[in-house]
Amino acid sequence: MGKKSKALFDKAKKLMPGGVNSPVRAGRAVGMDPPFISRAKGCSLWDVDGKRYIDYVCSWGPMILGHSHPAVVKALEGRISKGTSYGAPTALEVAMAEGIIEMVPSMDMVRMVNSGTEATMSAIRLARGYTGRTKIIKFEGCYHGHADSLLVCAGSGLATFAIPGCPGVPADPAGHTLSLPFNDLGRFTEAMEKHGPKVAAVIVEPVPGNMGVVLPDVAFLKGLRELTKKHGALLIFDEVISGFRVSRGGAQELYGIKPDLTCLGKIIGGGLPVGAYGGKKEIMQSMAPEGNIYQAGTLSGNPLAMAAGLATLKELRKRGVYEELEEKSAKLFSGLEEAAGSEGIQVVVNRAGSMGSLFFTDRGVTDFETVKACDAQKFRRFYASMMAEGVYLAPSAFEAWFVSTAHDWKSIGKTIESARKSFAMLSQRR
Ligand SMILES: *Cc1c(COP(=O)(O)O)cnc(C)c1O
Repeated sequence: MGKKSKALFDKAKKLMPGGVNSPVRAGRAVGMDPPFISRAKGCSLWDVDGKRYIDYVCSWGPMILGHSHPAVVKALEGRISKGTSYGAPTALEVAMAEGIIEMVPSMDMVRMVNSGTEATMSAIRLARGYTGRTKIIKFEGCYHGHADSLLVCAGSGLATFAIPGCPGVPADPAGHTLSLPFNDLGRFTEAMEKHGPKVAAVIVEPVPGNMGVVLPDVAFLKGLRELTKKHGALLIFDEVISGFRVSRGGAQELYGIKPDLTCLGKIIGGGLPVGAYGGKKEIMQSMAPEGNIYQAGTLSGNPLAMAAGLATLKELRKRGVYEELEEKSAKLFSGLEEAAGSEGIQVVVNRAGSMGSLFFTDRGVTDFETVKACDAQKFRRFYASMMAEGVYLAPSAFEAWFVSTAHDWKSIGKTIESARKSFAMLSQRR
C-alpha cells in the first residue's frame, strides 16, 4: 500500500482494534493492509496516496447508483441546512414508508432503524413476541448482522477469521438458534418436524451474499414458505443485501415468494446508516406503541438518511435501471469467466442481478460447505494482483462483487483485462 495509507494504518492500529471499525476491512484474510480512502465518485475510489480504483465493493452493497450520485448529493444538500435530526415525525419518513411498501411485495407496514443488524434483531424479537415461541432457525453461511442470537455460523466475517461461534455470546441466546445447511430442504423438513411447534421464526438470506453469492434452489425457498406456514412459524427474508439489488422488489419479487417479515438495509440508506423491517400488518401492529413489543431509536428515520434513501429509490424506479444493471453485470461476469477459461484457471461464477462472486473451484458452489472448499490461497494472489491493477475488491474470498449504474463500459472492459492478467499470473505460478 501507499505511504500515507501505511502511516494511517499504523496509527489506527494503536487506537482501534485491528485499526478498523468493522473487521473484514483490515484485510487480514488476504494478508494485505488496506488502503485508506479519501474520496469517491461514480465507480471510482481514490486512496489517500492518490491511487484510483474501480470499486466493486460499493460500500458492501449500498452504492447501487455509484458514489456521489448527483440526485443523492442534491437531496442531502437540500436537507442539511434544515437540521440534521429532530426526534419527531417528518414527511420524509412517510414518503420512505410509502416507497418501500410500494416496491417490496410482502410489506404492508414498515419500521425504520439505523442498520441491518438492528433490523434483523428487531424482526426476531417481533417474531418471538408475536408467536410466543423462542427457537430460531437460520442457515449456515447466512449473515444477519451481529445480534447475539444470529451470530452462529454466520458467513464471511466469522469464516474469514475462523471464529466458529463467537465468544461473548452467551450459550443461552445462541442455544435457541439452530443452524442448518442452505439449500437442503430435507434437513429443514426434518428439523421442522422435530422442533416446528417451538420455532418462532426461520430467517434466511433468500439470495445469500455473505458467503459470496450462492443461488437458492427455488424449491428450497418454497419449502421454507410452506413448512413455516404449516407449523405456525414466521418466515423472515433478510433482504438487507438482496433488496433492490437482485430485482426492484428483491428476491421475494424475483422468486414470487412472500415472507411474513422482511429486513432491509444497505441500498435504502443511499450510503447513510439505515435499516428497516416490516411485513404483514397484523404482525407489525404488535410493535409499540400499537402493540406491546418494544423497539425504539433516537436517530431512527433520520432526515438525512431518509433523504438519501428516497433519492436512491426514486432513481431505481426509473425505467430501464435494472435492465442496465443486468446488462453490465452479465457482461462483467461472463467476461471474467471467459478470461479465466482462456488462461486455464478454473472458476465458478454465481450471479444474481448486479451481485456476483467468482470462486476458485471446479465444482458447483451451492452452500457453505462448497464455499469453504474454494481455493482461498489463489484468491489472495488474485486479489493482490487486482489491487495493483487498480480494481478494488472485497478483501475476502467469501464476498460478493457489486456492480452499480455508474460502472461504465470502459471500466468494465478494463476490469476484465486486469482479471485476464491476474489469471495469467496465477497460471504461470502453478
Ligand atoms: C449487511 C447485512 C446485515 C447487517 O447490516 P449492518 O447494516 O451491517 O448491520 C444483515 N443482513 C444481511 C443479509 C446483510 O448483508
